[in-house]
Amino acid sequence: MAEPIITMRDLNKWYGQFHVLKHIDLEVAPGERIVVCGPSGSGKSTLIRCINRLEEHQQGQLIVNGTELTNDIKNVETIRRDVGMVFQHFNLFPHLTVLENLTLGPVWVLKRPKAEAEQTAMKYLERVRIPEQANKYPGQLSGGQQQRVAIARSLCMSPKIMLFDEPTSALDPEMVKEVLDVMVGLAKESGMTMLCVTHEMGFARKVADRVIFMDRGEIIEQNSPDAFFDHPQNERTRLFLSQIL
Ligand code: ADP
Ligand code: MG
Repeated sequence: MAEPIITMRDLNKWYGQFHVLKHIDLEVAPGERIVVCGPSGSGKSTLIRCINRLEEHQQGQLIVNGTELTNDIKNVETIRRDVGMVFQHFNLFPHLTVLENLTLGPVWVLKRPKAEAEQTAMKYLERVRIPEQANKYPGQLSGGQQQRVAIARSLCMSPKIMLFDEPTSALDPEMVKEVLDVMVGLAKESGMTMLCVTHEMGFARKVADRVIFMDRGEIIEQNSPDAFFDHPQNERTRLFLSQIL
């Protein structure tokens, strides 16, 4: 394997007394696409939120794109530039237009000229197939459109790694596909490293290099999507799959 872009070594995290991440060892190769699944409360969100330091681990090592995550704020700022995140609830700024949502980070954080940022923003709005929505406010868009704006917003920061936390689970069923299609396109065309928490099996089979199953704070099983879904090894994995399939 090439030098990993993400390395977790014996990573542990607690919320108070609650041991939420237990001895996580994980290496992610550049360009690798990983789907994380598992029961509610198993620590999936916590795991991926540690990667951009929205959560802090207390023990073990976490290295992202060559920078070890410690309490040093400089390191946190460095990796946040490399890591984009898309949440279940789109987290757009409601009082800014779509275009303004997309240019805010590039202009204020990356110090790009406004005209250049707008050009890049339009490019990504085209990529997620909603350039005509550029001057609307998030509240005027459907959930699926808002989530595509959120994806475009992340892309405008040119991240090396994209994290997705159940990006389709808050959407009405008829909007899930348009968002998944955008993500599949992104996975196939961009070569970007992606970690996606989702239970969308079709998506996992289409794009994932590896599926990781978590339960009670541990990685229980991991495999290629076909092997994982067709021949789960662990009893807990089988139980979980029998509930979502
Ligand atoms: P998942 O994403 O797999 O549903 P989470 O990572 O959100 O799981 O949460 C794992 C466990 O940690 C759950 O039991 C949850 O209640 C608990 N938890 C999550 N966030 C916090 C927090 N900020 N404080 C205390 N407990 C938390
Ligand atoms: Mg979660």
